[in-house]
Parts: sequence; structure tokens; C-alpha cells
Amino acid sequence: MSQLIVMKFGGTSMGSAERIKIAASITSEQAKKSRVAIVVSAMSKVTDLLLDTLRHAESGDKATIEKNVANLCERHKQTAADLLADPGPVQDGIDALAAEFERIAQGMLLLGDRPPRSVDEAIAIGERLTALIIAAYLAEQGTPAQAINAASVVVTDGVFGNATPIMEATRAKANSLMQPLLAQGDVPVMTGFNGATVDGKPTTLGRGGSDFSASILAAALDASELWIWTDVDGIMTADPRLVKDAKVLDEVTYAEAAELAYNGAKVLHPRTLAPLVEKKIPVWSKNSFNLAAPGTKIVPSLEEPPGARAVTSMANVALVSVEPASGAISGTRVMARAIDALDIVGAEVLTLSSSSYRQSFCFLIRKDELPVVLKSLQDAFALEIEHGYVNPFLVDENVGLLAVVGEGMRGVAGLAGRVFTAVSREGISIIAIAQGSSELTINLVVSRDGLEKAVKAIHAECQLGA
Ligand code: ADP
Ligand code: ASP
Ligand code: MG
Repeated sequence: MSQLIVMKFGGTSMGSAERIKIAASITSEQAKKSRVAIVVSAMSKVTDLLLDTLRHAESGDKATIEKNVANLCERHKQTAADLLADPGPVQDGIDALAAEFERIAQGMLLLGDRPPRSVDEAIAIGERLTALIIAAYLAEQGTPAQAINAASVVVTDGVFGNATPIMEATRAKANSLMQPLLAQGDVPVMTGFNGATVDGKPTTLGRGGSDFSASILAAALDASELWIWTDVDGIMTADPRLVKDAKVLDEVTYAEAAELAYNGAKVLHPRTLAPLVEKKIPVWSKNSFNLAAPGTKIVPSLEEPPGARAVTSMANVALVSVEPASGAISGTRVMARAIDALDIVGAEVLTLSSSSYRQSFCFLIRKDELPVVLKSLQDAFALEIEHGYVNPFLVDENVGLLAVVGEGMRGVAGLAGRVFTAVSREGISIIAIAQGSSELTINLVVSRDGLEKAVKAIHAECQLGA
């Protein structure tokens, strides 16, 4: 039994007693064949509920804290009661975790503030609740399991809300804590989403971060494979909620999966693949609602036929344009300063496009980062704007990002033209275009109200559907 499989169960796979039973049975079946460690998300919608509670706490709304904490307790205690013959000890644990959450929320209420570190500590409680419940259920069903708070395993930097793991330190902790459990046949059940800094301050890895937690653990423990259990049959040619004939891909490369995730395909957290690249650990994306479906295998490389493989989109983005007011100003310098201003506030550039004559350029960022980005740009260019060397920044929030992805797109003549024609045929204007030198992805920025239509048009034009 030297093989180790790390499995991750997402929010819907942990969303009810029925779903937890299935997740536990997948785990215990696999535990008969190999060593297994699992990583669990909070029950679906719980992280949203926790975050919403904290926002209400900051604004002084005590009643909502009480109502939401009662909901949290009720949902988890009922789930424990539905699963366990003797739910008492787990229900006590649920009360204790809910009280811990409420204490943090009450603190925010008093302060009228929401310190990022406390937010991270509080929202990880969703995952701690599910880890507690499923570990107890596994044990009661005869598969010894232990809930582990990832704050004692995943060591991260101090970027609250979007932390990055420090792999060497994580590897040491994961092995010293989990290898003894695995050796005695126990299943470690680690919370997804969270971690802690070297000096123990709680952090989280960003929304949807449990995929990332699982890949961090798989890399730290040198797992043979990582299986990500979700609510669709695998990675598809498009979001099935948007495109009815989207089809499951049997295999995709790390690079394709990363591009899709980065450009909005929610099925994977964008940073999931990074820890696995070095050791080439394969990942499966599988459906816990349809065990008969084989899923998608994500592998380091593939022989692929020419053409695109999938299309994805992202709303909630904003396009910012920066333009020197005269040709006497170095466009390169302006661009460097603007990028630096983005870096200072840790904003991510989703796509970037420039035109050389007027030296103007534009970049796309997440809409929720717009206020801090604009402030940082204003600070960086305060003098130039005052003296009229740089034009006021233009912001377009009525846009969306599209990405057409495929390793087989390299060197295929005419593909970009077909994509643009398909979008234009729908009467949707293309605002910006970018294609990296890897030719793995073509990015298009289009008007927001045409985004879904454009995804469908490209999917059809590239004949990606079933
Ligand atoms: P989990 O809670 O298991 O982490 P998520 O909701 O985060 O699951 O991700 C799964 C969802 O991702 C699917 O229900 C699907 O609607 C969406 N999705 C978006 N793009 C794709 C794609 N290309 N392939 C598969 N699913 C996609
Ligand atoms: N529960 C967290 C979230 O909703 C992490 C995850 O589910 O992956 O963002
Ligand atoms: Mg997810």
C-alpha cells in the first residue's frame, strides 16, 4: 500500500448528509486499495454565509450575526444527526466552532472593522466543521480518520485572503503530522482553503482555494495522484451552465487546465496545478454525483490534434486604459510605472494589450480590485496627471473576458480569424485582443452584454460541442 491518493471534495460534494455519505464511501473504498488523505471544502454556500455575517458584524448588525450563527449550527448539527448514531460529541464540537466564529464576529462588531487576519481565521471555520463531521462519520463506518486543521499543515506567506504556500515548510509539517497517521492506516481529513503563516497567523488561499490546498498536500506528501471531486463530469469544453452541448474532455494538459482556470473556469482554482508541475503528479477531475463517468485526467503533456479545445469567460472584470498625453513621454516608462503600481497593491493583470503609435495600453483586472488599483495608479502618476503628461485613466466596467484555449492552437493559421469572425457575426464588438507567445490562449475583451453569446458562438465555430 505504498501508493497515496489525495482526494478533494468540493462544497457540493459536502453539501448534505447524503452527499457526505457518498464522499465517505468513495474515501473508504479507495482506502481499501491505497493510502488516502482527503481535503474537504465547507458545505456549499457556507463560506458565503460566513463572509456575509462578518460584513454585517462590521456594520454593527448584531441581529444578523445571531441569526446566521444559529443557521450555521442548525445546518451542521442536523447533518451530524442524519449521519451519526451518536452525534453528541460532534455536535458539541460544532457548538464550539460556531462559538469561536461568533466571538470573532462580535469582536468585529465592537471594532466596527474587519481585520483581514481575523476574517481568514473566521471563514476557515466552514471547512473545520465539515472536516469534523466527515472524519467522525468515516470512523463510525469503520475507516479510522482524523480531522486536521490545515493551519497546522499549510505554511503560507502573510497575504491574508490570498496567501501563497511556502512549500518546504509545508512539506515538513505535512509529513511529520500525516505520515504516522497514514502508516497506521488512518485517513487524514484536512480542511481545504486555509493555512497559517510561519508565526501561526491564520490565512486563506482565496475563494475556491480548497483545490489549491489539495494540490499543495499532494505535492507535500509526494502523492501518486490527486483526485478532485466536484459536481460535473470533468473539465469541459465550456461551462455547462452556459453552453448546453459542452462536452467533457478526456485529458487536458496542466497548461491548458491552468489557462482555463485562470481565465474563469470555476472547475479548478487557478493555482491548483502549480505545486504539481515539478513532480508531474497527475490530477483527475471527477464527479461525485456520477461515479460512472471516468472524469478528466490532467497530465503534464499530450499529443494533440490541431485546433482549440475549450472556451471560457469571466465577467466582473474592468478594463483600464493608460495613455501618455504626448509622444514626448516614453510609453515604455509609463507602462512600467503602471505595472509597478498594480504590483504594489498585489493586483493581477488578467490580460494586457498595447498599441505602439499612441503608446497607449490597456489592461484587464478583477472588478473588485478596481478601487485599490485606481488609487495606486493615481498615486503613481499624480505629478504627470497634474502637468498633463498622462491622460486621465479610462475605465470600462462594461466588459468581459473570453479565452480560447488549446495546445493544438500553436501554429494553426486562420484560427484567430475564425474566432473574431464568429464573435463579430453576433454583432458583438471586440474591445481588446491578446495572444501570448506560447499561442496556448487567445484572449478577447468584449462588451459585457455580449459575453455569453460570444462563448456560444466560439464554441460552435470551433466545433467543440458534443
Ligand atoms: P466545487 O464546489 O466542487 O469546488 P465549483 O463550483 O467550484 O465546485 O466548480 C464546479 C463548477 O465549475 C461546475 O458546476 C461548472 O458549472 C463550473 N465550470 C465552469 N467552467 C467549466 C468547465 N470548463 N468545465 C467544467 N465545469 C466548469
Ligand atoms: N469554501 C471555500 C470557498 O467557498 C473554498 C472552496 O470551497 O474551495 O471559497
Ligand atoms: Mg471550487
